[in-house]
Amino acid sequence: MRSTIPLGKWAGVPVGLHWSVALTVVLIATSLAESVLPELDPGETRTAYWVAGVIVALAFFLSLIAHELAHTVVARRHDVEVDSITLWLLGGVSRFSSEPDEPSVELRLSLAGPAMSLGLGALWWGLAAIVSVAGAPSIWVNSLLWLAFINLVLGVFNLLPAFPLDGGRVLRAIMWRQSDRLHATRVAVSVGRVFALLLVGFGVLLVFSGSLVSGTWFMLLGWFIDVAGRAELAGTVQHDLANFETVESLMTAPVDSIDESVTVDEFLHDHVLQRHHSAFPVMRDGSVTGVVSLENLRRLPTDEWSSTTVGEAATPLFGIPIVDPAATVRATMDEMDRLSATRALVFADRQLVGIVTHTDLIRALEVHALEGTAHEGTRSRGR
Ligand SMILES: [Zn+2]
Repeated sequence: MRSTIPLGKWAGVPVGLHWSVALTVVLIATSLAESVLPELDPGETRTAYWVAGVIVALAFFLSLIAHELAHTVVARRHDVEVDSITLWLLGGVSRFSSEPDEPSVELRLSLAGPAMSLGLGALWWGLAAIVSVAGAPSIWVNSLLWLAFINLVLGVFNLLPAFPLDGGRVLRAIMWRQSDRLHATRVAVSVGRVFALLLVGFGVLLVFSGSLVSGTWFMLLGWFIDVAGRAELAGTVQHDLANFETVESLMTAPVDSIDESVTVDEFLHDHVLQRHHSAFPVMRDGSVTGVVSLENLRRLPTDEWSSTTVGEAATPLFGIPIVDPAATVRATMDEMDRLSATRALVFADRQLVGIVTHTDLIRALEVHALEGTAHEGTRSRGR
């Protein structure tokens, strides 16, 4: 979810505003000023209703930020870095640059936001009581009570076990304890999708019974939970694949290599056109000296093809990432990035055993994210 309006940094974290939360604030101010407060406290001026409505809506908005910052503070305490916070419809989305690596951390981190909302609810409630005892106008008491109420709703709502809502994350953390993170995410997402469907159904019912605004709101919410849940599942699958899958299963093996004395002309006709690979390790006396690829040849003038050997045209070995078959997808990609290379050679016991391209790795990540169910049996890693 991209934020549309940047709100600067709060506690060092960039906070952004999605248009939907601006809409929520406007809706809250309007409904308080035009219907809720006039019904609770008849006889005040329209200006008074609007002043109270706008103040409460803004206070509600600050409550959302407080909820998200509570997540942030607990995350930081456990060395989970928060990249940004985006405020959305009825809550926020904190984007983490790292992820909790233990279920207990995820549990604490997820509970922090709802705890903040429930705490704020109690706080506003207490303040309403004090203001009431002090004899303030009842419009202020009711405004504070409404603020207390909406924070309590926020706390309880976010505790619904509908991943990626906080309650869904709590559910995931609890199941993660028993199995592993990917499996737990999958179950939490499935439960979340059932909730999403129920919310959409409830929204449709509301629309048909005449409540267009709240009906639409519930449908949006269900849709958000569904989309966000699936996106997060895909992210988790990719994260796990990148960190645990080894290049051994993704590399091309055995490798077609070519002697360095072959001319570029011969190479093109006898190797490239025959075997459909775009890169070949270059050998001298049985050891690899570099890799020749179509990119290398593109830089070579055509009239030099017959007089140049592939050894001369090749990228020397020091410019090529070399990894172990047990290297993870992530480690291999990092190594490719470091050398600005698009392929890596895989060596085992100083012997060339495979070649893997950046495209192979990206493709594997994308396919696994699509499948979402890949490698089910290999995920119990006792983390
Ligand atoms: Zn939250």
